[in-house]
Amino acid sequence: MADWTTPDGVLTGELAAWALDSATDAIIVIDEAGLVRAWNRACVDLFGWSQEFAIGRDVDFMIPPRLREGHHRGFTSAMDRGRLASDGSARRTKSLTEDGGSIYIDMTFAALRNSEGEMIGAVAVARPASDRDTPTHGRKRYTGPLVDVTFDSALCNHNGQCVRNMPEVFDTAKRPWINPTTADAPALEQRLRTTVANCPTGALQILEVGQPADDPTAG
Ligand code: SF4
Repeated sequence: MADWTTPDGVLTGELAAWALDSATDAIIVIDEAGLVRAWNRACVDLFGWSQEFAIGRDVDFMIPPRLREGHHRGFTSAMDRGRLASDGSARRTKSLTEDGGSIYIDMTFAALRNSEGEMIGAVAVARPASDRDTPTHGRKRYTGPLVDVTFDSALCNHNGQCVRNMPEVFDTAKRPWINPTTADAPALEQRLRTTVANCPTGALQILEVGQPADDPTAG
């Protein structure tokens, strides 16, 4: 039995950590310098980086390079003003993942305040974006010169067929493990299309370069 006796009835220490780790949404706490101070288990599942890697590191590691400047500007201004511009509604954005891919997520932001009400950081809560408004419908996307590949880890049964059929693109020992940049000639592109089409679970799909990203015929 847990000891629920806490000062002022507020969850602290281990109890607070258990609550964070039991949440099914990814919860990221960053301090006033933008360093990650909490990274729950759902973050590990969603983004791939371990708690040991993430905690204490600048949150930049998960932000695509082209979005970093905007993040810095917005966060610095929020810390100066003592409040976030966000109204708390979910915002769709893109995050990098540990395997070298990227994923669309729906994220809410809140100011983290101390007992005096001072803003001392921010709390972000994220879950995969999975509806049709999302270019890859929550799947990770790997970009190549002739064709892109998307991957849904929830569908993969790890039978290894793609790795056996086209090891120059699919290599679980490498990061990213899917690398369509090596399919840079028509014959290789055709082999990639065939390999993806033969994925028995639908975990792999083709997304054409230049094709409207939410085209329902993708794949
Ligand atoms: S072929 Fe499809 S199901 Fe099999 S390992 Fe590759 S991605 Fe997963």
